[in-house]
Amino acid sequence: MKKLLEEEILEQLRSTMADAHKIVLTCHTNPDGDALGSMTALASVLRRQGHEVVAVAPDRWPDNLLWLPGMDGVQMYVKNEDSVKSQIADADLVVMLDHGRLDRMSTLGEAIADLDARRIVIDHHPEPEEGADVVVCCPALCAACEVLYRVLDQLGWADDLTHDEAVSIYTGMMTDTGGFTYASSRPEVYAIISRLLEKGVDKDKIYRNIYYTASADRFRLLGYLLYVKMEIMHEFHTAIMTFTNEERRMFKIKNGETDGMVNQPLMIDKMRLSIFLREDTEQKDIIRVSLRSVDDFPCNEMSAEFFNGGGHKNASGGKIHGTMDDAIALVRKAVRKYADKLR
Ligand code: 5GP
Ligand code: MN
Repeated sequence: MKKLLEEEILEQLRSTMADAHKIVLTCHTNPDGDALGSMTALASVLRRQGHEVVAVAPDRWPDNLLWLPGMDGVQMYVKNEDSVKSQIADADLVVMLDHGRLDRMSTLGEAIADLDARRIVIDHHPEPEEGADVVVCCPALCAACEVLYRVLDQLGWADDLTHDEAVSIYTGMMTDTGGFTYASSRPEVYAIISRLLEKGVDKDKIYRNIYYTASADRFRLLGYLLYVKMEIMHEFHTAIMTFTNEERRMFKIKNGETDGMVNQPLMIDKMRLSIFLREDTEQKDIIRVSLRSVDDFPCNEMSAEFFNGGGHKNASGGKIHGTMDDAIALVRKAVRKYADKLR
């Protein structure tokens, strides 16, 4: 496999980690399989090497990731702010996984900014912050877990990965590629998977755990959203779905359980863009936006321009200040602005 890092940055990584006694691992808000997979894998590797590790996610994760090995060692910042703050107060290193900016951690970002600690970024999102000490950010790779694997490989630690660490890394690569259906045509992806399978990873079971484990309520909601709520802007090959908190109560849907639903309208012939709008569960008049596209439509550019967000070309997110009606109007405006790239 081609080397990802120059010797110099590799040595910086090695010595920064070796010098650290207490290491905090973080990921982005609304953590997904890649965020939690990269965090649980690295937490386990570092603990085996004798480091004290605090792994913390800014907020809630979906129930279908609870089975991920090492999740019992991950803390949820919004639920235990004071306790986490005191645990991380004397940390000397923070490793930011699957995000490159403090503002992708909500209030946890402020707590991290206050620390007197060095910072490493291991990520695959465009435009990481400049304040970190070592930045390994590779937008061309499919997942933070792929970046992490290749870093571990170059450090000479990949052969010693445990079964559970391999499961975490596989999960992140699988979820960030929609089960290897996008951003996953590079042969290196499968070279890594092949080595993870040698660790005994049961990939079919992971696929079932993630994609075929829905509650009945969630499944009914998907049917309802597609049948009742989906608007198709045929001229622009775009589908828009909306989800209110009243509907959330009606279908008994928890935060995170709508993950992936945004992908479904892309199954419709000729669709290029799918946008999912959901009311925030905590803050009034905040609408969360998810965007998914096919081919080269740049969701991240649209999200940065209209929805205070960003992400990857084919998968991005953001938020809108206003009511659902305001959000729908803004989305229609954004779609018209990008008409040339959608027609
Ligand atoms: P999702 O639709 O699953 O919430 O987000 C898809 C992807 O978009 C995430 O994995 C993340 O890369 C990116 N993303 C989501 N929300 C934001 C945001 O507010 N800002 C930025 N920069 N990226 C986001
Ligand atoms: Mn990711």
